Amino acid sequence: RRIPIRRALISVTDKNRVEYLAKGLVRAGVEILSTGGTARVLKEAGITVTDISDYTGFPEMMDGRIKTLHPKVHGGLLGRLNEDDNDSEVMEAHGIKTIDLLVVNLYPFEATTQKPDVTLAEVIENIDIGGPAMIRAAAKNHKRVTVVVDPDDYEMVLEENKTYKGISDDTRFNLAGKAFALTARYDGLIANYLTAKSGTPEELDFPEYLSQQFIHRSELRYGENPHQQAAFYIDKNPPAGSIGATWQVQGIALSYNNINDADAALSCLKEIGPEPACVIVKHANPCGVAVESDIELAYLKAYATDPTSAFGGVLAFNDTVTEKTAELILSKQFAEVLIAPKITPEALAVFAQKKRMRILCSGDLPEKPKPWQNFKRVSGGLLVQDADIAMIDMKAVKVVTKRTPTEEELRDLAFAWKVAKWVKSNAIVYAKDGQTIGIGAGQMSRVVSARIANMKAEDADLKVAGSVMASDAFFPFRDGIDAAAQVGITAIIQPGGSKKDPETIAAANEHNMAMVFTDMRHFNH
Ligand code: 5GP
Repeated sequence: RRIPIRRALISVTDKNRVEYLAKGLVRAGVEILSTGGTARVLKEAGITVTDISDYTGFPEMMDGRIKTLHPKVHGGLLGRLNEDDNDSEVMEAHGIKTIDLLVVNLYPFEATTQKPDVTLAEVIENIDIGGPAMIRAAAKNHKRVTVVVDPDDYEMVLEENKTYKGISDDTRFNLAGKAFALTARYDGLIANYLTAKSGTPEELDFPEYLSQQFIHRSELRYGENPHQQAAFYIDKNPPAGSIGATWQVQGIALSYNNINDADAALSCLKEIGPEPACVIVKHANPCGVAVESDIELAYLKAYATDPTSAFGGVLAFNDTVTEKTAELILSKQFAEVLIAPKITPEALAVFAQKKRMRILCSGDLPEKPKPWQNFKRVSGGLLVQDADIAMIDMKAVKVVTKRTPTEEELRDLAFAWKVAKWVKSNAIVYAKDGQTIGIGAGQMSRVVSARIANMKAEDADLKVAGSVMASDAFFPFRDGIDAAAQVGITAIIQPGGSKKDPETIAAANEHNMAMVFTDMRHFNH
């Protein structure tokens, strides 16, 4: 069934492309109703519109708090014209006209909260009331009404209406899902903002000079531990794909540890893409990472590395999470946080069963990270360094053994090396076929990290024999190599640079292993 657009209501804060849309509608003979600011812009562009206040007979009032909250608007959106449910009589009796297309985007709540020195009153005034009410009304009545909340959809709607003389059931249904995703996210942002404001007993005392660079994002319930106060500040312009640029679409407020873990997951994910990938992080360490032909397979492989640790972890994906992915994840585990460039409304509906699961959108991930600086406060001082955004070119690695790695080994070595960069030192990563087989993290001895990687593989019933090994820093002794050979590791990637390199190389040769030196270390503490 197709429903032609005859009357549209346009009320937008983001006026981008609204003239284009309105002109297209006028050309199609559509009558346009519009609120104050939008009507002004359209009239200035020479487009004939009816002011919403002329239609309702009520002026806009209370500084715009009330513009469209009127039965003649909501009746026009909610009224049913089906055979069995039909509101046309009551609509006629009260002069309510049908509205077939609703185009709304909302007051910039999020942007307002991020303005420097913003007052609570200003934030509150930027809670859109009429917009979400209309969006929800139109989306609920998608059997008849088309709802558009994204300027990117203007063209599609105009084209479909023109070419097919109306909008299809499918399009209206899909747009309704998108509309509810928007209002859900919008209310989520408001709730987060207000609970963060009220949820903390005292606000963290933030040094004034830092506010030149950072802006307050949220007050956190507490820091790493409940007795530590904490807050989240983000860059004024956080780069695309950074944790500071993510936005939460569902679930309860993020904790300090969530943000820290999500940051680790995103960093590792960006390193191993662009193939479909999944990174699972627990306590700031990847506990399973995989690349595959699609993110569901990647998830299954990443999960298989260490299902015990994956529970309650952070899951990061570099492709759209769909309903199918969502159901797969929930059939396996609970996760505290999930991040993906996009999450479909259907997937969100699946995750909605798990209120504790925070869902974050990252938007598209950049191919190359931009340089930035890392700060680490130490007692009585501050350490500043360039963030570790360097990565070796695998073609430039030096083969130091008699045996050259096979093509598959090289691929796995590259993968293991990228993962090892994001595992806390001492880091040992075993990998095969784009899957981590065992990860040993954060030990004071490299050999113990390797033993842990073994243990993990054994616990998960994964076969180490035939895997490759990455080590974030050089092996100071040959024992690490001997131990690796014993469990069946066939190839090794490490920076090299130890006085004992000749011994280590000899050991690898004895075991007929292939070993490459990267000449670059990735300590990460
Ligand atoms: P305009 O710039 O056209 O005056 O206002 C457009 C904005 O007003 C849109 O973002 C829309 O969501 C919002 N809006 C529409 N009706 C109402 C209402 O009744 N109350 C409030 N608070 N906002 C509304």
